[in-house]
Amino acid sequence: MASPEEIARRAASDTWLAPYDDSFGGPPTTFAAPSATFSAPAPAWTTPTRPRRKTGVKLVGIVACFILAVGVVNIVWDWITPERLAVPGVENVQLAANGLPEGYEWAGDLQAGGDKLICGPVTWELTGDTPSGGRTAVEEAVELAGAMTGVTIKPVEDVKVPAVEITFEYVSSRELRDASDGATPDTVGMAMTYHTSFGITSSEILLDEPFFEDTLSSDRDEAVLVIVHEIGHAFGLGHSDLKDSVMYPTLSDSTRVFPEDVAAFSAVAPDC
Ligand SMILES: [Zn+2]
Repeated sequence: MASPEEIARRAASDTWLAPYDDSFGGPPTTFAAPSATFSAPAPAWTTPTRPRRKTGVKLVGIVACFILAVGVVNIVWDWITPERLAVPGVENVQLAANGLPEGYEWAGDLQAGGDKLICGPVTWELTGDTPSGGRTAVEEAVELAGAMTGVTIKPVEDVKVPAVEITFEYVSSRELRDASDGATPDTVGMAMTYHTSFGITSSEILLDEPFFEDTLSSDRDEAVLVIVHEIGHAFGLGHSDLKDSVMYPTLSDSTRVFPEDVAAFSAVAPDC
């Protein structure tokens, strides 16, 4: 895979800009057709100033009956909060003209029906230094995104001839920002996706190491969902305007998998 310097060089040398974002890479490295050398943008996911946890707010007022109240709060909270990593059904999701749920978009030039995943083995690989728990978070995200898409994403060492290769790397905040003009100090992940006229061939996903170092211990599900969001970009999805959905551009404590997310992921490789 390309070094961060190479990625930054590609980004600087390209003249095509996504309408709403952010980053883009150079031509695919494994395909030589000159008519097919453009790349998808890599929208970045930003995280806002963190809202105070709702349970923390409640505890301030009920400190006198701390033990009981905590138990009640937690039971109620578990009851009203759906599992964030569960894969919901898509029975009631209507698709818009672009083949995605209302409010969802394809990334940049990856227009509906144009460039989706090339059918064939999809592989993943994690390179470079990894924070504690960082590998299992990627594994979990790969499994979840695969389930949402209907495609098995295999470790690269298990596949002789991959059709689509996804590479993950935890990098410093500086490296993440340098990789894209669209990255801000709040950016926690980014995907640079390459495709040809046949479809998507590869994607390099960069993850902000300091963010994950912190989030993997404080809110593991959130960390996994950030990676799933970037895999969505690797699969050609843009952002959604459905608040708190996985493909919403801003991360929150309420981010979780929506049925619409599942419908969007399953649209990237419908015939495979
Ligand atoms: Zn994004």
